[in-house]
Amino acid sequence: MTLELDDLRVRTLGECRYDSPFAEMLASKRTSPHYVHEDDRVLVDDTVSVLLGRGVPIDRLPSLEAAGPRRKVYFDPATTNVGIVTCGGLCPGLNDVIRGIVQELTEHYHVAHIYGFRNGYAGLTEQHRERVVELDLHAVRDINNDGGTILGSSRGDQDPGEMVDTLVGLGIDVLFVIGGDGSMRGAMKLTKEIDSRGLDIAVVGVPKTIDNDLPFTDQSFGFQTAFAQATEFIASVFVESQAAENGVGIVKLMGRHSGFIACYAALSNNDADFVLIPEVPFVLDGPNGVLARVEDHVRRHGQVVLVVAEGAGQELLEEEGRTTDASGNTKLGDIGLFLKQKLTEHLTAVGLPPTVRYLDPSYAIRSVAANAYDSVYCVRLAHAAVHAGMAGRTDTVVVRWRRRFVHIPMSLITSHRNQVDPDGDLWMSVLEATGQPASFSA
Ligand code: ATP
Ligand code: MG
Repeated sequence: MTLELDDLRVRTLGECRYDSPFAEMLASKRTSPHYVHEDDRVLVDDTVSVLLGRGVPIDRLPSLEAAGPRRKVYFDPATTNVGIVTCGGLCPGLNDVIRGIVQELTEHYHVAHIYGFRNGYAGLTEQHRERVVELDLHAVRDINNDGGTILGSSRGDQDPGEMVDTLVGLGIDVLFVIGGDGSMRGAMKLTKEIDSRGLDIAVVGVPKTIDNDLPFTDQSFGFQTAFAQATEFIASVFVESQAAENGVGIVKLMGRHSGFIACYAALSNNDADFVLIPEVPFVLDGPNGVLARVEDHVRRHGQVVLVVAEGAGQELLEEEGRTTDASGNTKLGDIGLFLKQKLTEHLTAVGLPPTVRYLDPSYAIRSVAANAYDSVYCVRLAHAAVHAGMAGRTDTVVVRWRRRFVHIPMSLITSHRNQVDPDGDLWMSVLEATGQPASFSA
């Protein structure tokens, strides 16, 4: 993707004229405040060859605005009302982000009101307006110990006009949207509606994806928790496969388009013998197909473990009858069940009747609380989002890029997907760890 510096500039509602209360807080604690300077930009690229290849002066290199507290803010904190909504599927860390936003707004910015919308964008519609909850420190205490989201979530399109009416009715100045690619598309429609009415409302996103498929993001929040959980399921399937004659363990993991969870989980405990991901197509039949390779492994070791990302091998499944969810996302075919059936048939036919254990732990992974690493990450993302919103950034998301928290235009987060590079070092590590062939060709 060709990026120019100007594509990376985030929108701001206007000049920041109010002193940040953050300054007072830090001064009273005799700390020297860490303010972000407007020139404190983070480079998009990190290799000399790519930087040189850009062929532009240093100050024109693609770079991102650093997130963090500003000396001056756009909204007068004392009269600022804030809304928070969580949308899309569950992901570890949602409650940590909510908690971090509420704590920062309450303890350091002392804003007037914080409202939580229930069940995703549906909570902003006229029908559900009365279910809005006011959030304070008490409401978010300890919520990080639980998975899910205290606000609830939903899928399905809502009318941007109706949602903006709700924001106006409550006098919301900043709306924080915590959600995936669909949620960010929804947030962009809200911004468009806000603009068309000439309103002064900032919309700031905290992008969520358990699959780690967001661009411009070192690692998405909840991802580490997710693959750590996944590791335990792989370990249990490994034990099962060892105990059975011709034991075959199959674990299907999240990853509609990107196989990061499958790769990391497989690398973590090295129990997987085969890892199948959407980015690397495979065939089943033929001497180098998956069936023959698995058969060979079972003959030599008496058992085998396969880890498969849910989006892998979709081209092998029947297209017919595919439905969509309420948000219009195509439902995937079940590659795990498909492999179970094909492997059972094949191994039985070659005289190795298998005992197959198939696990699809998706919901058991999505619903757990964030681990300590992700909790820290979430709270820091939340702080960054609050600083961005109070400084009047809009149509903007906060992400961590090259270990720095930065702002990027919302449209860029939905522009493409982060995927495992089949020629890159992560996939190479998976091949090294599993010993599986680089390709399964017929
Ligand atoms: P995930 O895919 O990680 O579960 P998501 O945010 O992509 O999260 P979706 O269900 O696709 O999950 O979308 C969440 C919300 O955003 C839904 O209410 C959906 O209707 C809305 N949304 C999705 N795409 C759009 C769009 N193009 N325009 C407006 N709203 C959208
Ligand atoms: Mg999505």
